[in-house]
Amino acid sequence: MIKENSPILTCITDIYERYHHINEGNVATYIPELAKANPNLFGICITTPDGQIYQVGESEHSFTIQSISKPFVYGLALADHGVDKIMSKVGVEPTGEAFNSIVFDEENNRPYNPMVNAGAIATTALIKGKGYEQRFNRILTMFERFAGRSLSVDESVFESEKSTGHRNRAIAYLELNAGMLEGNLDEHLDLYFRQCSILVTAKDLAVMAATLANNGINPITQQQAVDPKEVRAILSVMASCGMYDFSGEWLYRIGLPAKSGVGGGIIAVLPGQFGIGTFSPPLDARGNSVRGIKVCEELSQRFKFHLFDSHPVSQTCVSRSYTGAMVSSKRQRRIFQRDFLDKEGDKILVYELKGDLYFATLEKLTRQLQSNQKQAQFIILDGRRVGNVNSSAITLLSEIKQWGLSQEIILILTGFEQKTQNRLQDNGWTDEMFMENIDAALEWCENSLLSRANYDDKILKDQLALEEMDIFKAFTQEEMTVIAPLFTEFSYQPNDFIIREGEQADRLFLLAKGRATVSLKLSQNEQRKRLTSYIPGIAFGELALFDLNLSQRTADIIADTEVICYVLKFDNLKTLLTKHPEVYIKLMQTFGTTLVNTIKRATLEIRSLSV
Ligand code: GLN
Repeated sequence: MIKENSPILTCITDIYERYHHINEGNVATYIPELAKANPNLFGICITTPDGQIYQVGESEHSFTIQSISKPFVYGLALADHGVDKIMSKVGVEPTGEAFNSIVFDEENNRPYNPMVNAGAIATTALIKGKGYEQRFNRILTMFERFAGRSLSVDESVFESEKSTGHRNRAIAYLELNAGMLEGNLDEHLDLYFRQCSILVTAKDLAVMAATLANNGINPITQQQAVDPKEVRAILSVMASCGMYDFSGEWLYRIGLPAKSGVGGGIIAVLPGQFGIGTFSPPLDARGNSVRGIKVCEELSQRFKFHLFDSHPVSQTCVSRSYTGAMVSSKRQRRIFQRDFLDKEGDKILVYELKGDLYFATLEKLTRQLQSNQKQAQFIILDGRRVGNVNSSAITLLSEIKQWGLSQEIILILTGFEQKTQNRLQDNGWTDEMFMENIDAALEWCENSLLSRANYDDKILKDQLALEEMDIFKAFTQEEMTVIAPLFTEFSYQPNDFIIREGEQADRLFLLAKGRATVSLKLSQNEQRKRLTSYIPGIAFGELALFDLNLSQRTADIIADTEVICYVLKFDNLKTLLTKHPEVYIKLMQTFGTTLVNTIKRATLEIRSLSV
């Protein structure tokens, strides 16, 4: 339930009160039953695509849908026969004439459009099904999908129009005569009269309109009421012909696709944003609800809802960009790999995207990609902070993919929503082009660069000797003979804990064989967050060397494979300090330097990520 002081509700209540007392227009009388309508009834409802309903006044009072049925039945006919067939039977040109006018597009031998009676009767005649019952049932259930509830027919209005609808009968006969419609004319007319007599409320209309705003998915039931391609067709004819001979001025003033009915209802749609349903029986000379028009006009002006008011100014969709030389993956590398990646990392470009992707923002991205492309071999586009991705963005992304292929650039997408991934896959992006996050993609690109240069981890598969560790690069053989006895070799099986969070940090490890991962157990669940992984040649746990308090480990390190480590207990260093102080100093300095390098690298990353 929305609160009474909701700003939206306050606004439509204000509009409701402003127009409640105006006394213009007359209720329709040409269908005798409609003449009984109470002219004071007035309801307004707005529904959003996520199902929020704002309503005021008699928004739950039932009345007959009348011509508002037309765009929906048109959608059903399109679904039944496809555009080509329907186009050949009913046009999409405004008539500029009254809703019940007897004019036809002589040149193409068809009614002008499906929003006036002549066109609607022809559309209804095309609804498939065996016989009257089944055909009407298809129409009714279609409306129920839109309204999200079961609907019924006002039998007295139906009988009333059936017995007096001579003008509509005349239109149908002329169409039969001209070959514009086929089959059982009385059945078609009954279907037409009956569909006009379906009972709805302003709230139903708003939900139906919101379903059109929501690509055909009912915001309350989540049911797909109609295919999105029919939604576009429906909204198009509503925009050009929905308000009869007021359609042009309506579009000019209010700027929303809309449809009215002589029962007093109006629907209006702002695609993607909301649907409006209004109910007030008194009509103007053209058959449109007087208060309904005023409500829509006021709403449109207050909020600038006019379709042509909303012209988003294109902004950049790149929140930041950097190269693989500025930011590296969390994977630990050996010194020779690190040096190589520092030099070659600018072949990897990362673009973190943000906001909505549509033609204008992606067009800017394509220019940016092209101007930075000279050295690029890998481009990572991250979609974690991306909002909506519209169809033109999907098309442009596919063009970008093609461009990448032609430039021999490998494109990787990370962090995009699954539904966007699916749409891209329908457009030629393949599975291996998607990765979970930037870090995984960076690691993959770095590995590719390393393996192209034969610097990959494969050459590290045998157990390294102690003196092959990065840390001992600058140590002489004599120094190594002093150091070697201080280390003990340990083996671990896959999934063994090498270091456990909370354990006392009293030793350091040199990884000689296999692979290990640093991870944190996230308190709430058993899930682990992977921080980094180690390969042979790398030292870990060495931070504790400089921690005089011998504090506790802050993360777990778990063996991914069979692992062999050379382990140095800090206690052993005491003998080194007394017997060979110069080796002790060199060892500590070397560890100090690797820490300094790590911090420098982190500073560079922070700098790169901050601009
Ligand atoms: N049933 C009505 C008719 O055909 C519908 C007209 C309307 O709502 N404009 O006359």
